[in-house]
This record gives sequence, C-alpha cells and structure tokens, in this order.
Amino acid sequence: MKSALVTGGSRGIGKAICIKLASMGYHILINYKSNETEAQKTLQAIEEKNATAELIPFDVADKEAVKNVLGNWIEMNPDKPIEVLVNNAGIRDDALMFWMKDEQWEAVIKTNLDAYFYVTRLVVSNMLQKRYGRIINIVSLSGIKGMPGQVNYSAAKAGIIGATKALAQEVGKRNITVNAVAPGFIKTDMTEDLDENQLNQLVPVNRFGTAEEVAYTVGFLAAKEAAYITGEVISVNGGLYT
Ligand code: NDP
Repeated sequence: MKSALVTGGSRGIGKAICIKLASMGYHILINYKSNETEAQKTLQAIEEKNATAELIPFDVADKEAVKNVLGNWIEMNPDKPIEVLVNNAGIRDDALMFWMKDEQWEAVIKTNLDAYFYVTRLVVSNMLQKRYGRIINIVSLSGIKGMPGQVNYSAAKAGIIGATKALAQEVGKRNITVNAVAPGFIKTDMTEDLDENQLNQLVPVNRFGTAEEVAYTVGFLAAKEAAYITGEVISVNGGLYT
C-alpha cells in the first residue's frame, strides 16, 4: 500500500487534494491541527469512494510534534511508504508591515515555511531510500507577486518557492520531483472575509477558483507520468496577473 500525506487535509484545498489522491489509489494520511470534526468528514468522503485514509493530527509548526507523531508513524508503518507529500497546511494573518506584531510574523513564517522544512525533511529520507517520490508545495500568488498587507505571508510562500527549486535539484537523480502550486483566490474558509464580488473583477475568468481546481493540478503533478516536471511553480489563478 502506498500512502500520500496531505498537511491541512481537514478543510478547503487540502480536503479536495485528499479526495483527489485517494481516487488515484493512495492511502491518505489526513493531517490537521485541531478541527477533528472536519477531518472526520474528509475521511468519510474518502471511504464513501471505497478508498482508505486515516487521521494524523499534529501541528506542522511544532518541530517536536512533527518528529514524534509523523516520525513514529513512519517507523511503525514500513508497509505503507509515503510516496506523495503535499505541504498544504497554511495560515494568513494580514496587517500592513508598519502595524504587524512579532506574533503575526512568527506564526505565519512558522506555519508555512518552517513546517515545510520539518515535515519534508522527515518524509524525503524514505523517498530517497525508495528512489521515488512526489513532493508538492501549496504556495500562493502572494509568494510570486507579493501582496500589500501580507509581508509575512508573501515572505513565507516565496521562501517555499526557493526551497522547492533547491530541493528539486538535490533529489532529482532519485526520481523524486518537487514542485509548487500557486493558487490565486480560491473559495475556502481562508478567503471567507474577502469581498468576492469586488475581487472577481481582477480575475480574467471573473470568479474565485474552487478547491477541486487546485486539487486537479496537484493530481497532475503527483502522477507517475509527470516525472519530467520538477522545480516548477504552476499557477492556478484564473489568469490573474502574476
Ligand atoms: P483553510 O483555512 O480552509 O484550511 C487550512 C488547513 O490547514 C486546515 O486543514 C487546518 O487544520 C490546517 N492547518 C492550519 N494550521 C495548521 C498547523 N499548524 N498544523 C496542521 N494543520 C494546520 O485554508 P485553504 O484551504 O484556503 O488553504 C490551503 C493552502 O492553500 C494554504 O497553504 C494556503 O496558504 C494556500 N492558499 C490558499 C488560497 C486561497 O485563496 N484559499 C490562495 C493561495 C494559497 P484545522 O482544520 O485543524 O484548523
């Protein structure tokens, strides 16, 4: 049995990615931080499609928790190697930089960027041994273009883009690809507070995207056939200028 780990799989884009990868035959590890009710719904949606999954809650920003929970799982489940890793968990906490508090900077950098390091470092070592893997990082238009009010979030996502390109070069010879997917405005809890009608006018396709549209691109990159695409950033943003 081959597994796929999706961080932040309880809701939004991560949930759609879990369902997509399950349909490709993977056993899904649904990570989340605290919302067990929503994580159970993801699990149920997967089981309804006759696929398998399990919950693996831990805070991706907590180095020790990643080591203990994920490290233990890897050790105890040598028969279910993680072949696909999707670093999707993320938060935003916007403020103009002049007003930004230390905690806002630190939380956003930790949850988005530090987590990429903690989780990927653990998972990639097994992929290197198996000589196969797919690592897909969910970044953002903000990490490419920079967005006012999101200095913390833009820095974190741009950092992951750099790390994606560097790691791709480190592990390419072992048939491991590392890519990033950069969504624009996607309808999830994270964008609930945005004025959709107003922002739609900025988007050439004139609407917010769906989590399933992002998951489709992740599925494409996770496929065995995508073996010659690595170190790339694919935008899923309805044509919004990057
Ligand atoms: P949501 O807010 O809808 O969901 C966030 C998910 O991340 C939840 O599953 C949540 O778990 C999990 N999570 C948050 N913090 C942690 C943590 N410390 N440890 C483990 N899990 C955590 O977000 P989206 O689905 O909208 O976003 C998913 C990714 O896509 C993020 O990286 C985001 O930055 C990126 N993105 C989103 C865009 C959008 O328009 N929505 C645009 C561009 C990028 P729990 O349920 O337990 O809280």
